[in-house]
Amino acid sequence: ILKVKNVSKTYQSGSKKLTVLDEINFDIQSGESIAIVGPSGSGKTTLLGLCAGLDSATTGSVVLNGNAFEKLNEDQRAAVRNQYVGFIFQNFQLLPTLTALENVMVPLELKKRKDAKEKATILLEKVGLGDRLTHYPTQLSGGEQQRVSIARAFANEPKILFADEPTGNLDTETGDMIEDLIFDMNKDQGTTLILVTHDPELAKRTNRIINIKGGKIQEASYG
Ligand code: ATP
Repeated sequence: ILKVKNVSKTYQSGSKKLTVLDEINFDIQSGESIAIVGPSGSGKTTLLGLCAGLDSATTGSVVLNGNAFEKLNEDQRAAVRNQYVGFIFQNFQLLPTLTALENVMVPLELKKRKDAKEKATILLEKVGLGDRLTHYPTQLSGGEQQRVSIARAFANEPKILFADEPTGNLDTETGDMIEDLIFDMNKDQGTTLILVTHDPELAKRTNRIINIKGGKIQEASYG
């Protein structure tokens, strides 16, 4: 479902160039679950963004479900994302002017789902926020915002779910509940799962761990 070929990413800030990813290669099959691990600043979030088509590689090719992102413009990339991708951001990226319910409805309305409101309500109930539907992001705690972002990522039943530290802001009990929801989606619906985590226990639950260090993949271990 995902092919990453000779992908490099260089950031330019001022006169300085920083190569974060250096000729990375891997393939992910439909239905797999993968953890991307590595030290802070090693480029995990960058790699996730490239794989989801949120950002462009400096060189190389990222092909998601037959769509080569490097050949598409931003509108075309957004269309591919709306069709196939769910993304749980490290910093949530909820729309501040929309309520929890409205945030979760966004991907459903993009797909012109008539039952957007009912579906979004069910999803928020699933993540334990049935009593927070009309709250705005600023009226929610960090963990609650994270759960809204998780409900939104589930909303369009993505073929591939990207999650950047999905349980990072949650207490153990809520984190375990969210972990179970994510892995159930992988098992029951065959959703491909790619997550970035610093939590070794979470990484061990996946089929495969990709370890990035110094811009390269260090080893791929199969669990
Ligand atoms: P963490 O585990 O701390 O979240 P990470 O492995 O996800 O880190 P990235 O967020 O991908 O790391 O960042 C990799 C490096 O690229 C960092 O050194 C960061 O400072 C740099 N970087 C990220 N985004 C940009 C940007 N837009 N412009 C310039 N440098 C950037």
